Amino acid sequence: MSSHIKLFSPGPVEVSEKTFQAFRKPMIGHRGNDFKKLYAAVQPGLQQLFGTTRPVFISTSSSWGVMEGALRNLTKGKVLNCMNGAFSDKWNDVAKRCGYEAEKLQVEWGKPITPELLKARLEQGDIDVVTLIHNETSTGCMSPLKDLADVLKQFPEVLSVVDTVSSCTVVPIPFDELGIDVLLTGSQKAFALPPGMAFLSVSEKGMKRAAEVKGRGYYFDFLEFQKNHEGDMTPSTPVISHIYALQSKLEDIAAEGLENRYARHAKTNALVAEWVKARGFEFFAPEGYRSVGLTCVKNNKGVDVAAWIGRLKSKYSCIIDGGYGKIKGETFRISNMGDETEETISQLLAWLDDTAE
Ligand SMILES: *Cc1c(COP(=O)(O)O)cnc(C)c1O
Repeated sequence: MSSHIKLFSPGPVEVSEKTFQAFRKPMIGHRGNDFKKLYAAVQPGLQQLFGTTRPVFISTSSSWGVMEGALRNLTKGKVLNCMNGAFSDKWNDVAKRCGYEAEKLQVEWGKPITPELLKARLEQGDIDVVTLIHNETSTGCMSPLKDLADVLKQFPEVLSVVDTVSSCTVVPIPFDELGIDVLLTGSQKAFALPPGMAFLSVSEKGMKRAAEVKGRGYYFDFLEFQKNHEGDMTPSTPVISHIYALQSKLEDIAAEGLENRYARHAKTNALVAEWVKARGFEFFAPEGYRSVGLTCVKNNKGVDVAAWIGRLKSKYSCIIDGGYGKIKGETFRISNMGDETEETISQLLAWLDDTAE
């Protein structure tokens, strides 16, 4: 068995040699011109991925840092957490731990959040901030973001925070068009960078709200991000090596072309879907709402998933994921996020066949 186990699990995903090379550039001061140039250089690429003319702030934290931070910046009243899987359920717990009154809009795991459901709850009033996870990585379910954003537009008094951790760079996420207030994502999933960095954009309305909210703290304060952004800097010492790696990744994305990148994800995802059907497995999420960057497979055949992954690992030095949280073993997940190609995904599927019992 090689010491390098390639990850086909949905986060962290495999990181390329080129990215690691970018990581080990010599260190620079974070208040000097070299850093300011680096910060400014990554902005256009990030803005293009976010479909925005707003700044894209860089946070030295995992996604949860900004998921919690967004609540701390925006919340004056009641939070509504749209919940349909492990990450979106957890956001409700996080809101409560921050001391907010947080209501659940709970849907069965694997099912999408629908615009009808969101609209019905918002019509009852009394909601200040909505949290939504575009793509529930635990269940492989993608909720209809455009339709949900259209509902949110009908309630301009409600602020919205949308997590695109496993969908940004897989499918287009046009922040400005959607009209949502915070868009956030992390580095270790669709971006195929190591974990430890997150990105976020905030609408004008979101910035205005933050200015009115007390107790925002310092580390995730939107106003600090904005003030420092204006000088091409971050509030505290950022993970500079990671930003070099991001610069390298944005070059890769530009070289491939965004449309080609989206098409590549759609194709590799379709390859996995064909395999799932051909092998007599089912999908955990319904047709029309399935993730494009990963596949959550229902273990309807009752195979020993952990043993299968063990064989895959020892024979081919790679792994898929054996299911997340309460659906571990009942499901397994295959990621096609990041740098995977038709060739690497076809290879993986052949290896899965070879190691199946
Ligand atoms: C992985 C994931 C997170 C959590 O990210 P961390 O980097 O562990 O903080 C949040 N939301 C979604 C949708 C995820 O897939």
